[in-house]
Amino acid sequence: MSKKDYYEVLGVNKDATADEIKKAYRKMALKYHPDKNPGDKQAEENFKEAAEAYEVLSDSDKKARYDQFGHAGMSGGGGFGGGGGFGGGMSMEDIFSQFGDIFGGHFGGGGFGGFSNAGGRQQARGSNLRVRIKLNLAEMVNGTQKTIKVKKLKAAPGATSKTCTTCNGTGAQVKVMNTMFGQMQTQTTCSTCQGLGKIADKVPAGANEHGLIKEDEEVTINIPAGAREGIQLNVRGKGNDAPFGGTPGDLLVVVEEEEDKTIKREGDNLHQELYISFPEAALGTSKEIPTVTGKVKIKIDPGTQSGKILRLAGKGLPSIDSYGKGDMFVHINVWTPQKLNPEQKEFFEKQLRSGEMAPEPSGREKTFFDKVKDMFS
Ligand SMILES: [Zn+2]
Repeated sequence: MSKKDYYEVLGVNKDATADEIKKAYRKMALKYHPDKNPGDKQAEENFKEAAEAYEVLSDSDKKARYDQFGHAGMSGGGGFGGGGGFGGGMSMEDIFSQFGDIFGGHFGGGGFGGFSNAGGRQQARGSNLRVRIKLNLAEMVNGTQKTIKVKKLKAAPGATSKTCTTCNGTGAQVKVMNTMFGQMQTQTTCSTCQGLGKIADKVPAGANEHGLIKEDEEVTINIPAGAREGIQLNVRGKGNDAPFGGTPGDLLVVVEEEEDKTIKREGDNLHQELYISFPEAALGTSKEIPTVTGKVKIKIDPGTQSGKILRLAGKGLPSIDSYGKGDMFVHINVWTPQKLNPEQKEFFEKQLRSGEMAPEPSGREKTFFDKVKDMFS
């Protein structure tokens, strides 16, 4: 089955701005929203398709990947989107949680996330919230704890509810229609209370029609070791409160990688540049370098050439899909002195005249390409 082009799905050009993409998605979401098209499977498909397209095109990284590789770039290969549920398979819950960004949390009557079936009786559930959290490499490898501020809908103090008089609290309306086969009963969701069975009685100022008010809350999130870019953590019950005392939604935390100044990541492998002085290269030395699990001492042999790459086995990131670990590659750069005092100048001039420091490659030196090959063997 070939997938439809995301731009086509949203009906925008490839050079559409972020704002145009957002607007196009808002239009689609309103048009195909399940509340407006009850029981319409095609509308639901279109709705999901639009949400998936927006999920990718609204994220500059994913959009760039999509622009380059098409749908193939979205399939989770190469460690992308691991476990994050991106690029396909978004649940309706994910989609609704996305609405927070688009509709300012006021979509569908103040944002309740639907119903869960608790012991046969329908219970309202608060909508999920989605936040992004930046982690550095060490935090991703070792796990960490973060406290963040979340803007969420909470039950406003003093808000009360009463039984919906339209449906007498059942949440359903029965309509009787006369047809050629006689009377037929159809049951639909109560239009007064949207199936909640309750409506607001007293609503304090600032609260919505469900007695919910937007407030900041501090949430502490435990991030387990081994998190990676794109992974989504689910913090149960820390999303929006449900209308009239149902189960709160969840807080979905999407991990983003913070770029490190020194250590660069390439898949599970890590790279860093190390500058050593000319005397250190000539005489050999030992250096302390940072890794994601703390500082490590490495030995630099006497006569080390610039461009040498040291491989620290297992000092990369733990692999997401195996028990293996990546490596750390240390790229050695020999720093040529840029200012010489007269004494130093004399020393080097003497060496130059004698020819004793002239390069003497044995032919066994590894070329740049040999090194690259080594790295991936
Ligand atoms: Zn009702």
